[in-house]
Amino acid sequence: MVIDLDRCTGCSACVVACNAENNIATVGDEQCARGRNMQWIHVQRFYEGEYPNVTAYHAPMMCQQCGNAPCESVCPVFASSHSEDGLNQQVYNRCIGTRFCANNCAYHVRVFNFYEPYWPSPLEQQLNPDVTVRGAGVMEKCTFCVQRIRRATLDAKVEKRKLIDGELRPACVQACPAHAMFFGELTDKSSLVNKLWEENAQRSLRVLQEKNTQPNVIYLKRVQVPETDVL
Ligand code: SF4
Ligand code: SF4
Repeated sequence: MVIDLDRCTGCSACVVACNAENNIATVGDEQCARGRNMQWIHVQRFYEGEYPNVTAYHAPMMCQQCGNAPCESVCPVFASSHSEDGLNQQVYNRCIGTRFCANNCAYHVRVFNFYEPYWPSPLEQQLNPDVTVRGAGVMEKCTFCVQRIRRATLDAKVEKRKLIDGELRPACVQACPAHAMFFGELTDKSSLVNKLWEENAQRSLRVLQEKNTQPNVIYLKRVQVPETDVL
């Protein structure tokens, strides 16, 4: 995935789309106040400058699908593990809720179900049948919308063709009104994500890559426009 921070407006449409697509439960005011809000993607806000000349900028943060994932090595029951196609997967019915994985994830993107999931009516009517509802005591996090990945891959296989670049989009990518997020095969030289990455090499970064987590999300830094060019 490639995320262009120069385009992100911080609107949080990606967060809403992710919650709806992935049956993410609501937890109520009290639990939110205790820092137990359930979100697989959150928009981080940063501020630069002194009042009144303050600039805010935003960075959507979700599981970075690390190639060398610190959450996997600490799970005693292999609930956090690697799929053949390189996803960091969470096997819900294996999870025993130790929360070691969340403590070892440097990106703070794992969330824990302290209670049975709940949706105030009529939200329970819109649950996505393609996504498992997680019970109390289970850890969860972004899957890159694995249900969409499997569906698109199987459709292509049935139609005896390769996946078309851009055909497969996680909910956050699909919903982003600013077109700040892109999804595809980074190792495919002809893909849009590869092109964005190569063409913007000077702006690209992987968060905490110095920790050798090998994140698979690439951020493109904001373009700094000199103040004299703004007007
Ligand atoms: S970002 Fe966190 S949860 Fe995702 S693979 Fe890396 S360590 Fe695991
Ligand atoms: S939907 Fe797009 S513009 Fe809005 S916060 Fe998410 S990435 Fe940024």
